[in-house]
Amino acid sequence: MKNIAVLGSTGSIGTQTLDVVRQHDGDFKITALTAGNNIALLEKQIREFHPQLVCVGSEQKAAELALSIRDLDVEIVCGMDGLIAAATGEDTQVVVTAIVGMIGIRPTIAAIEQGKDIALANKETLVTAGHIIMPLAEAHGVSILPVDSEHSAIFQSLNGERSAGNEIDKILLTASGGPFRGMTRTDLEHVHLADALKHPNWSMGKKITVDSATLVNKGLEVMEAGWLFGVTQEQIQVVVHPQSVIHSMVQYRDGAVIAQLGTPDMRLPIQYALYYPKRTFLQGERLDFYALKSLTFEKPDIDTFEGLKLALQAMKKGGNTPTVFNAANEKAVALFLKEKIRFLDIPRIIEETMDAIPYIANPDLDAILDTEAAVYERIESRW
Ligand code: NAD
Ligand code: MG
Repeated sequence: MKNIAVLGSTGSIGTQTLDVVRQHDGDFKITALTAGNNIALLEKQIREFHPQLVCVGSEQKAAELALSIRDLDVEIVCGMDGLIAAATGEDTQVVVTAIVGMIGIRPTIAAIEQGKDIALANKETLVTAGHIIMPLAEAHGVSILPVDSEHSAIFQSLNGERSAGNEIDKILLTASGGPFRGMTRTDLEHVHLADALKHPNWSMGKKITVDSATLVNKGLEVMEAGWLFGVTQEQIQVVVHPQSVIHSMVQYRDGAVIAQLGTPDMRLPIQYALYYPKRTFLQGERLDFYALKSLTFEKPDIDTFEGLKLALQAMKKGGNTPTVFNAANEKAVALFLKEKIRFLDIPRIIEETMDAIPYIANPDLDAILDTEAAVYERIESRW
């Protein structure tokens, strides 16, 4: 029995994590759950999974929840201190970081310091604080197990290779291309929020769905892969693969390419992280190679989808630039979701913020959080 805490249990990854747990009754115990605002769903999850501790976004939500579960003996906490408590419970062995955004940094660091393994979905944490998190995990003997489908595919394609001394020649990071693949900049001037939220292959939270449309998500994933697998930008090639069947690949020095394929279902990478290195039955569709007519590949159009281009620039520059890139994107996407800005304003805001915020070469945690605050302040004062 493995004891797990799920940060962001009411979201897309969070609910699918609990679905995996539900399918393997007896293999896992849920120690803590956290949610921002969705108290109704959290209450259902509490009644089904019986965590000892739950965290919500605000004191008001905590009071609401306390009333609705007054018949239960569950500790309710809130805010950042609450998230850290949820990530560091004494009995917890694995923390699933299914929360969205840089808010995941401090709980992830706290969990690592307490020796918890991390099933990492929250890529924003690694993008902005990878230089702190990866050495910290190593120092504490903690595993960072990727949940992101591409990174799980790379992780699966690496199985046993590195311990045999076989280094990665190149990572082939696949991308669906999102709902606007093939469009020109003129086309993109006219797209709306509802169009951006229609992902062709995956059903995900709103923020990452917009990030997939701008290709910012792929940019974040290039940085995520850099940290997880210790490779340079030059060793990562983004390949657009609209069918999302090949979830990513690793090329070795002899030219062999190893890939992981499957139907687009996040429960597979989630389950792989939770059971690693074991594989166990997972309900769901299997690939039918007779029905799969063709798998196609393209080069990403980074002049049209500047989100990816800017991410590559941020990765090259390093320091606090990935934080500026990420925080500006988080803020811009929040504005886009409120329909206060247009689609192409997202890369525009990221670019102008990257030019404006002072560079810090090796930011510590405070400098990362200060950079985030400076980015937020700047964008709030202008848009
Ligand atoms: P989501 O929006 O569906 O869920 C986010 C969760 O975080 C919710 O439980 C929400 O209540 C909680 N949350 C959000 N803001 C919060 C706040 N301020 N305080 C406390 N809790 C807060 O997001 P998602 O799609 O599940 O994505 C989660 C993470 O996983 C993201 O980093 C995303 O990039 C990554 N990811 C998601 C997918 C996917 O298929 N959805 C795939 C790969 C990676
Ligand atoms: Mg992904």
